[in-house]
Amino acid sequence: MESSFSSPNQTLARIQRVLEVSLILNSTLDLDRLLELIIETAEEIIRSEGASILLLDEDTGELSFLAATGQKREELKPIIVPLENTIAGYIVQTGMPLMIPDVSHDPRFGGQVDDATGFITRSILGVPLMVRDQIIGVLEVVNKMDGAQFDEDDAYILTMLGAQAAIALENSRLVSELQRAYTELGELDRLKSDFIAIASHELRTPLAVILGYATFLQGDMTGAARGHLDLVVQSALHLRSLIDDMINLRHIDAGDVSVARERCDFVELVRNVALEFQELSLAKRQSFVLTLPDHPLPAHLDREKIRLALANLISNAIKFTPDGGDIHVEIPLEDPDRLTVVVRDSGIGIPADQLARIFDRFFQVEPAYTRRHEGIGLGLSIARTLVEIHGGTIDVQSEPNAGSVFTIRLPVGAPLS
Ligand code: ADP
Repeated sequence: MESSFSSPNQTLARIQRVLEVSLILNSTLDLDRLLELIIETAEEIIRSEGASILLLDEDTGELSFLAATGQKREELKPIIVPLENTIAGYIVQTGMPLMIPDVSHDPRFGGQVDDATGFITRSILGVPLMVRDQIIGVLEVVNKMDGAQFDEDDAYILTMLGAQAAIALENSRLVSELQRAYTELGELDRLKSDFIAIASHELRTPLAVILGYATFLQGDMTGAARGHLDLVVQSALHLRSLIDDMINLRHIDAGDVSVARERCDFVELVRNVALEFQELSLAKRQSFVLTLPDHPLPAHLDREKIRLALANLISNAIKFTPDGGDIHVEIPLEDPDRLTVVVRDSGIGIPADQLARIFDRFFQVEPAYTRRHEGIGLGLSIARTLVEIHGGTIDVQSEPNAGSVFTIRLPVGAPLS
């Protein structure tokens, strides 16, 4: 009997080949191509008549052929190999390579696979495929060419190839799991957007009715009843701003936000938005100070969108500043090329490591379940988008327990004709 490839030079050449192949294995994530490459390489380097990969199904505890070389490959696919009384099963259970020079004398060889395929197995060499101490399957070669015997060198080389193959298979499995997770996330995202669209639309109409009647009744009421009704109106207005945020988000997602610029006075715009919130701030006994220039600042912008962005900043400033704190809305005049408005508060501030994230959708510094403040975490993300579509920026500076400063900077806009 001839024993081939056992000289040191030949072993080295085979190791080199395994290394070459492992480079390719690690650069491809296509599972079918990986499997083909592994079994073709096993067959070629070990010089065997056939090679196969069996994968362990963790749920059933059975092995099945994932890939095989040769003409019988299709017949092999449906065959299930149990762990008991089979060679592959023995390799899985011991976690060790197994070399059987003559299967006809081995009680572990049942011959069921040969019966099903018509192939005649004489000798087998198999190694476990392991990922982090877990056996995921078996790599087998059958019948050494030219009637030769498998030897220790073959077992060594096949073990090396098996180790590389197991890593590549695991990587490919992880990538396809990740892809599936991404697809599921995409689907969830779509469902969330649909939900927001339907919910915001369905909530808007009944809310308009509540708000309409409540505002109408306000005029007729006095005393305690008036106080209660004021609360109803206040809560309904809050709900409306949440729904507006959701609707804006949907438009932003759909890419249908356009800037409808009109000529206006920036100072008047800022003053009007600030005055909308004055009462809310005074109810918290905060000092609410406006520092605005005493002359108009001509602007060319989408009034409604900038109003909404600024409203989000001012309402946050009031919300995140305790009773008795200070709110300051200012238009500084230092940069003639920019329209700037600064909203400053003496509130709870934002930790430095969270600053970059507060403009993300649904991000809130306090986790939802311990929150003491209202809101759904959309205001800043919408504000930033609305400012950015004007070519502007929003910056924040903040220190925990010392307060926050949000600055909107807008280009002066198209020349006014
Ligand atoms: P919401 O106010 O609905 O929670 P926002 O997108 O407006 O959502 O703000 C995101 C988060 O940023 C807030 O939950 C809060 O943690 C933090 N934040 C925003 N403005 C301030 C502020 N002026 N002071 C302290 N924290 C703030």
